[in-house]
Amino acid sequence: MENQNNNQNNPNQNGGGSDNNHRRNNRFSWIICLVAALFVLFSFTYMSKQMEAGTLKEITYSEFIDLLEQGKLSAIEVQPDKERIVLTPVSGGVEYGVGITYYTGYFPYDTGLQQRCEEAGIKYAATYTDKTVTILDIILSYVLPFVLIYVVMILLFRMLTKNGGMMGSVGKSNAKVYVEKETGVTFKDVAGQDEAKESVTELVDFLHNPGKYTRIGAKLPKGALLVGPPGTGKTLLAKAVAGEAKVPFFSLSGSDFVEMFVGVGASRVRDLFKQAQSQAPCIVFIDEIDAIGKSRDSHYGNDEREQTLNQLLSEMDGFDTSKGIVILAATNRPEVLDKALLRPGRFDRRIIVDKPDLKGRLEILKVHAKNVLMHDSVDLEAIALATSGVVGSDLANMINEAAILAVKEGRTVVTQEDLFESVEVVVAGKEKKDRILGAEEKKIVAYHEIGHALVTAVEKKAEPVQKITIVPRTMGTLGYVMQVPEEEKYLMSKEELMARLTMLLAGRAAEELVFGSVTTGASNDIERATSIARAMVTQYGMSKKFGMMGLESVENRYLDGRPVLNCADETAAEIDHEVMEILDRAYERAFSLLGENRDPLDRLAAHLIEKETISGKEFMEIFREAKRKDTEEENDPEIISDVAAEEKL
Ligand code: ADP
Ligand code: ZN
Repeated sequence: MENQNNNQNNPNQNGGGSDNNHRRNNRFSWIICLVAALFVLFSFTYMSKQMEAGTLKEITYSEFIDLLEQGKLSAIEVQPDKERIVLTPVSGGVEYGVGITYYTGYFPYDTGLQQRCEEAGIKYAATYTDKTVTILDIILSYVLPFVLIYVVMILLFRMLTKNGGMMGSVGKSNAKVYVEKETGVTFKDVAGQDEAKESVTELVDFLHNPGKYTRIGAKLPKGALLVGPPGTGKTLLAKAVAGEAKVPFFSLSGSDFVEMFVGVGASRVRDLFKQAQSQAPCIVFIDEIDAIGKSRDSHYGNDEREQTLNQLLSEMDGFDTSKGIVILAATNRPEVLDKALLRPGRFDRRIIVDKPDLKGRLEILKVHAKNVLMHDSVDLEAIALATSGVVGSDLANMINEAAILAVKEGRTVVTQEDLFESVEVVVAGKEKKDRILGAEEKKIVAYHEIGHALVTAVEKKAEPVQKITIVPRTMGTLGYVMQVPEEEKYLMSKEELMARLTMLLAGRAAEELVFGSVTTGASNDIERATSIARAMVTQYGMSKKFGMMGLESVENRYLDGRPVLNCADETAAEIDHEVMEILDRAYERAFSLLGENRDPLDRLAAHLIEKETISGKEFMEIFREAKRKDTEEENDPEIISDVAAEEKL
């Protein structure tokens, strides 16, 4: 019922789920019409042929002469234009059957035929084709094809214009509005993000009962901006708002508005709001609003986008909130949005949907694990710990990967190993079994990875390493150390950052220490270490030279978080020096730590080369064993703490 209403309200709009169906049905019925027309045409021609064929039967000319000579014919009719002679047999006189008219398949222009017939007493007539038949023929063979071509052309034209072709689309709506009557998503499905959920509960109440607010004179927010990195659940949250309020959910991506033709986007905005208003209360969700909402004073002017944005602004000003329309928009680049969009009465609320913390990740894992059969021993908390910095969509993906893995191995439940393997797949890519490292390369990679792991162990004296592997992965790593923190950290001390730098550079240090030369394998470590060291100087105020001076600010916080320098060129050069110094110190420390632990380093590397993958437990056992032997030989039990205490940075 409601669907029908929907279509009646918007007879010439073709977006939307139900409308979409409607359009598809429309096209279907056209195609069916076309097929039916063709069928009728062909059956018509066929039937008219059949009609003739039913009463006429073809015989050869010599058979005809035979019949003629045997006196079995009562009349013949010569039809020169059809190149045939139609014969009427004397009743019952022909063995070919009664009541059938025979005709010859060919017409020989036998000039003596008439005379022969007259002599034999057979009626002779010569006729030309009946004119009424010719008209039907003309209709069938000349008029109908043109009608058909015309129909097909109209059809094609319609399809083209519907799909955003040139002529029809300008000024008409093609917005791919995606509308769900009931999203079926509730706040329970959105794990973590408690603050964001809290901010939107008010909207739910408003949608439920707009009168309550308008009666008292409260102006309700027209829109809210969901801000956060990709995959954190912004769309999910918007759907949950609609689901909780039990209102329809219109969604559209910002990029759908942007078209080649000026004015199209604006008309889409208009249509979207018209459609939404007819179904209020409802939620309108605009994903990637930055595609249209980019600041208008940027250097790259774009008429179309500006018009679209202006239309959006005026629609937002125009619509009546008391009806209960809430516009939610999502972006991960809030800083590029036009200020006008963020003014009161527009997207004046900002709801941060950030990357989940440990608790959030655990909850997201639980939500998605609900639908998957898990072994009792599965510890989702360990997975949550291992996935720091990962967003909700990745976690959902991990659970699914793990389930697929379990199926592949022929198991009926997902185990902890499956989960860890899928964490690695998401973080580092799939194992690349066909890439076989040469013996020498394998050795270098093993020392490199053990270098990282060993320094971690020496610096923190804990069991921070979850796994070390030298099996190459599809995302380019030749090997890596997987670390799982004991708890999630929100603050990092300078010492911890230095320890991290030392750990990152230890791979390269191990290569130099053992082989006396270095490889390209450390590029990623160097990149990460440099950005940490740089941030220490420019953002965290951790260098003596610059003290508390903020030298960089972070742009695109919710995307790559690229820092932008804001200082003089000379200062930039000095920053580089300072960063270099920090990195040098960390590298030297890594180098000396490894030198002092040369025996464990060799043993662990040998073990890793043999096994290719070792667990954190194995690693610690070998490490402690080697360490004990070392200290027994040197008879100096203080050695580990000495190393750690020395040169605190
Ligand atoms: P965004 O719009 O922020 O890019 P989505 O809302 O499209 O992200 O999230 C993609 C998918 O990731 C969701 O469909 C859901 O399966 C999963 N997901 C993301 N965040 C969460 C969350 N907080 N709780 C549960 N699932 C989540
Ligand atoms: Zn490395």
